[in-house]
Amino acid sequence: MKNEKLYKLRCVDCKKEWKEEKTSSNCMDCGGALDVLYDYDKIIEKLNRHLIKTAPITSLKYLNFYPIEDMSKIISLREGNTPLYKCENLAKLLGLKHLYIKYEGANPTGAFKDRGTMVEITKALEMGKKAVCCASTGNMAASVSAYASKAKLPCYVIVPEGTPVGKLAQTLSYGARLIQIRGTYADAVRLTINLSQKHNFYLCGDYAFRAEGQKSQAYEITEQLDWRAPDKLIVPVGCGTNSSAIWKGFTEYKRFGFIDSLPQMIGVQAKGANPIVQAFEKQTMEYQIQDKPTTVASAICVGDPLDGKKILKAIYDSNGMALDVEDEETLNAQKLLAKTESIFVEPSAATGLAALQKIVKMKKINSDERVVIVMTGAGLKDPLSILKVLPNSPVIDPIDSEVDRFLDKKFYQISSANIGDSKEILFDKIPTEEDIKKHVKKEFDIEISNYDLKNAREQMILFLKKGKKIIRSDLQMIVENSIRKGAKKIIKIIDFSVNAEKNKQPIANIEIDYKNKRYKEYSVGVGPVDALVQAFQKILLKNNINYILMDYTVTIKTKNADAAVDVKMTVADKKNNNSVIAMGTSPDILVASIEAFEEGCNLLYNKNMKIK
Ligand SMILES: *Cc1c(COP(=O)(O)O)cnc(C)c1O
Ligand SMILES: [Zn+2]
Repeated sequence: MKNEKLYKLRCVDCKKEWKEEKTSSNCMDCGGALDVLYDYDKIIEKLNRHLIKTAPITSLKYLNFYPIEDMSKIISLREGNTPLYKCENLAKLLGLKHLYIKYEGANPTGAFKDRGTMVEITKALEMGKKAVCCASTGNMAASVSAYASKAKLPCYVIVPEGTPVGKLAQTLSYGARLIQIRGTYADAVRLTINLSQKHNFYLCGDYAFRAEGQKSQAYEITEQLDWRAPDKLIVPVGCGTNSSAIWKGFTEYKRFGFIDSLPQMIGVQAKGANPIVQAFEKQTMEYQIQDKPTTVASAICVGDPLDGKKILKAIYDSNGMALDVEDEETLNAQKLLAKTESIFVEPSAATGLAALQKIVKMKKINSDERVVIVMTGAGLKDPLSILKVLPNSPVIDPIDSEVDRFLDKKFYQISSANIGDSKEILFDKIPTEEDIKKHVKKEFDIEISNYDLKNAREQMILFLKKGKKIIRSDLQMIVENSIRKGAKKIIKIIDFSVNAEKNKQPIANIEIDYKNKRYKEYSVGVGPVDALVQAFQKILLKNNINYILMDYTVTIKTKNADAAVDVKMTVADKKNNNSVIAMGTSPDILVASIEAFEEGCNLLYNKNMKIK
């Protein structure tokens, strides 16, 4: 069942045409990206308008607009037909009237990539390839490996080290042969191209055939908006393949007569990976390759965008724009979207909302414009990034009064404050209790009890003694900590210091208040934390308490220079066969560690009292 071939491949840069058997990735003369050019007159001749206008949306509805010749080879997992949500809560907040989200996380593997992979894997089968390979920042890997398995083709994948775990878990489950490299996405691309040439594997990736499948987002948005194009279309840009594919889809629907206007294309990048934005700001088509892109939005962490020229052209042709957003804005937008519209996306997708917030602020939008943001991927793909800026939910003993305490103290209210949304210094010297109370009321709208206040102030003193200044996110964490700890402190750190000279074992000094008596001890240790914990334990031992550190993990919460770390410790009481998990949070790892140990000891002490 072979169709007539109604397309050809042409280099975007030097315009040379290529046979797909020779290459469907890059131009073999100049390395430029390829584009699929159709004989649109012939397509229009064969076009069944009634079917397009009335048949329910499925990716297979658009087969005549794809470069597929052998329909018997199609591999589909029912990609596409994703929801277009009208977002009234969010629209109201932003002062807009018509805001929509195209939620691509609803695809089979959780990102729009599936639309393109359907075409690519079908092409691999058409060409009789025996295996496929791809480079990826994660989602491409998950998608290609899923479709390859369905097609019974082995799949080789190369990703940068540190790719989000959700994406790795998917890729490995689908059975891909996965390699992580100590390098960037650009390195992965280079290695994969060589691999495909050496073994004649079909090269999947951000190439011409993929873009054709991804066009269907434009077709669907048009139909879901009752056959009109949005005024503004906002989409994150990594390689630029998806955004330029969406643009192509709209231009095709205009050519076919399904719409009479085109959207302004708004490409969004992260500040740490923004070659397209920089080119746009200079109003040129030439973008500078960035060697070391970094951003929490890992799916758009691309310094050398293969389809950079295509998306820049789309932006200029549509009178659109490119803008970049900070990681912090991205994570805040991710939370906001989940909270207002119950759509949970991954950071790269959330950049689109962060960008819209900026556009509104810059007054570059009218309130009655129709705006669509393409939310490119699902939130569960990368839960760890957002968890770093979400509150640690309290762990309590299973008693009603503890649950009541959570509600009484409005713990959730502190927790919903945004980490790092203000860098303004609140305290640089030890504040009075009155001062703290005032700020807590202002920032979180809660009345803090005198007991918690004392606790919070003690933590602040430790904090400030380390030469740190307290900003809003620090205050949040301190208040959170003191309320969480709540329970009566029997054991309290008064002061500590660690002397860690080069090539010498660190020595820790610690002063502790135990049952209202002061004790001082010192100890050496294999590391500073070990020395501190050992000095602490010495004092406890003198009082016949043998609590020991069983497990220790550190998580970095945010990426800025004064990044806070979470320390999680399991502290055990051997004698009573008891153990607890305790937390400490601070920009200083020693403060976080010793607070976690102190909390663990207090929790154990209280637990033993209850048992007795
Ligand atoms: C791949 C991807 C992008 C970037 O798309 P490009 O085609 O590379 O521009 C954005 N968001 C998510 C979730 C992705 O998986
Ligand atoms: Zn070329």
